[in-house]
Amino acid sequence: MRKKIVAGNWKMNNDIQQTEALLAEILNKKQDNNVAKIVVAPTFVNLQAAVQQTAGTNVIVAAQNMHQAENGAYTGEISVGMLKSIHVNTVILGHSERRAYFGETNSLLAQKVNTALKHDVTIIFCFGEELADRQSGNHFNVVETQLREGLFHIDKNDWNSVVLAYEPVWAIGTGETASPEQAQEMHAFIRTLIKDNVGEAIAENTSILYGGSVKPDNAREIFSKPDVDGGLIGGAALKADDFLAIVNAI
Ligand code: PGA
Repeated sequence: MRKKIVAGNWKMNNDIQQTEALLAEILNKKQDNNVAKIVVAPTFVNLQAAVQQTAGTNVIVAAQNMHQAENGAYTGEISVGMLKSIHVNTVILGHSERRAYFGETNSLLAQKVNTALKHDVTIIFCFGEELADRQSGNHFNVVETQLREGLFHIDKNDWNSVVLAYEPVWAIGTGETASPEQAQEMHAFIRTLIKDNVGEAIAENTSILYGGSVKPDNAREIFSKPDVDGGLIGGAALKADDFLAIVNAI
């Protein structure tokens, strides 16, 4: 059975004191019988502290990005080996903010995917259409292209290191959520794409998260859809009570 996952993407929020305080509250208040795997993604400089703080717990620490090269003259960048050396084994790739503000293209993401997989790092691969794509009815094509160009080239054996996160850009940080029916429709489309291009067992075993204005009061309905396996949470992941309410909605 595929895993249920709730991941908090903290984006460029929380200094070290805030990181430690939020994590302490999450660790303190979370229930031990969670169905969902819990992932948190603090900013790079706070990853090591977060890894130490969560040692021995079931909370997984992820990075929000990494560079595609293994090392070299890339001032200001972070490599996969650096992440692994502090025991960070999960990375978010292709978030819409990386695509929109930092020019990350499908082909660049394919390189990042390859580098992560080469080092046995689990990927939370993000993709999703913009509002204009949805309005013009092009959203399925956009999503298919993002997956084909960024991900579908990987080896079948590597799919167990991949989690998908469908995040319609128009729903991120806007308070506008895709309806549970819109989420289910797209998730079912994605699962069929994987089935047709990769294989049925892999399609059944790959977790597909929904992201975009998931909140405690809409999580349960979205997560109740058969092809929605959890969520990637932005704003609501910054408060322990809201985040854990979403975790418990699985
Ligand atoms: P949001 O962000 O929950 O604040 O909409 C989701 C995301 O960017 O992953």
